[in-house]
Amino acid sequence: MIKVNHSFLEADLNDVLRLFFTEADVECQFDYQPSVLRFRLSYGVNERIGEYSVALPEDALGYRRIFKRYAKVALYEFLSDITGKSLPYGALTGIRPAKLLRQIRAEGEDESDYFLNFLHVKPQKLQLLQQIVEAQADALSEEETAVDLYVGIPFCNGRCSYCSFVSSDINKAGTLVVPYVDALLGEIADTVALIRERGLQLKTLYIGGGTPSSLPLEQIERILSALDGLSPSEYTFEAGRPDSIHTELLELLARHGVGRISVNPQTVHDETLRAIGRRHTFADYERAMALCKDYPFTVNTDLIMGLPGEGTEEFCASLSGVMAHQPHDITVHTLCLKSGSILKEKTERLSADTTEQTSEQAYRMLTENGYIPYYVYRQKYSAGALENTGYSRGKICRYNVHNMEEVCSVLACGANAITKRVFMGESRIERYANPKDIPTYIAKLSAINEGKRKLFGEE
Ligand code: SF4
Repeated sequence: MIKVNHSFLEADLNDVLRLFFTEADVECQFDYQPSVLRFRLSYGVNERIGEYSVALPEDALGYRRIFKRYAKVALYEFLSDITGKSLPYGALTGIRPAKLLRQIRAEGEDESDYFLNFLHVKPQKLQLLQQIVEAQADALSEEETAVDLYVGIPFCNGRCSYCSFVSSDINKAGTLVVPYVDALLGEIADTVALIRERGLQLKTLYIGGGTPSSLPLEQIERILSALDGLSPSEYTFEAGRPDSIHTELLELLARHGVGRISVNPQTVHDETLRAIGRRHTFADYERAMALCKDYPFTVNTDLIMGLPGEGTEEFCASLSGVMAHQPHDITVHTLCLKSGSILKEKTERLSADTTEQTSEQAYRMLTENGYIPYYVYRQKYSAGALENTGYSRGKICRYNVHNMEEVCSVLACGANAITKRVFMGESRIERYANPKDIPTYIAKLSAINEGKRKLFGEE
């Protein structure tokens, strides 16, 4: 826990502390007098006193933003010295890394000096961010009226042991499926009407989860039919688990204009799949990919680094295994154990060094095979304080870029879905969150529709 004399610093400093310790008490004292920021940090018998020459902006937001940056760096350097650990992203926490790089460029600062010398980001990570910012440039400049539409399906076939999403096992929650889809169709109808009334320009449509393909085919068809006629420039169905993909599903998706799907094995090792509670094998992935070859879908495949019992060698075998099937995109996730997952606390985690080495090796293998990194995000509690990176060797997924970089409003339907309105040029985002729990979502449908209409009302 952090004890600090300015409460607005507490959350950010705790993020830095968590990079080094799961539990530790650290005291921090910061005092600013024009052009000098002084600090005193202590942990057990360790103490550091120092200062930065910096003129903090006068406006309240700018003042806090820059104050936090310096406070986090001071704490990172202190803890890094005590522990002898240096982390891949250094003191960079709490902001989307590619967004920060664009911000630093816009402020006219020297990005190498800022990332490498000030934040202590490692050179290979800065290189990754520079490539990503370049690859996603085309998807960043959306107009004020642009909007994405997200449809969430909170059901899966079983529950993976690392999962912390609000997702129900469809085999146990089967009686909720039809009432859920009924409510979802009501929300979709209202949302489509809102798009038309407000003259919003629909850019992308994304059906995610959970595992959308865990629904019975006739329920999927009801949802797809409700979305017919919208003509987004990109339409994704996050199919997910390979064992839920079959010809009838692919036929249905193609008929309704879906252009992107994902087939996610997470690993090629069946023993690991059993250990993490996924009821499929790598052979199911191979079979699903063979079926996809008959359709013009762009296919994404997700893998996870740091699964129990897997090190660099196992992960690289997974990469080779999926690359043999030539998915257009590959997303490399770092295992992230949050509360709510069965695996948390129970797992012997990979060391940070191993995960970092795996991530470097994955980057090399993917880029040597023509995959370009195009979006990145980091989560608290991820192994080795690393990132999740989307690589593509074709058309990038604009929805993912919009979502990670928060450059386009999104109207979101379904339990636990979060609608966001991005006010361009104001660095302002407002949100409306749907209830997580399915029965509450169903019961509150009218209030949800009203809440979203209010958010997208005239300014
Ligand atoms: S498929 Fe995804 S959402 Fe479903 S249980 Fe596994 S990790 Fe969670």
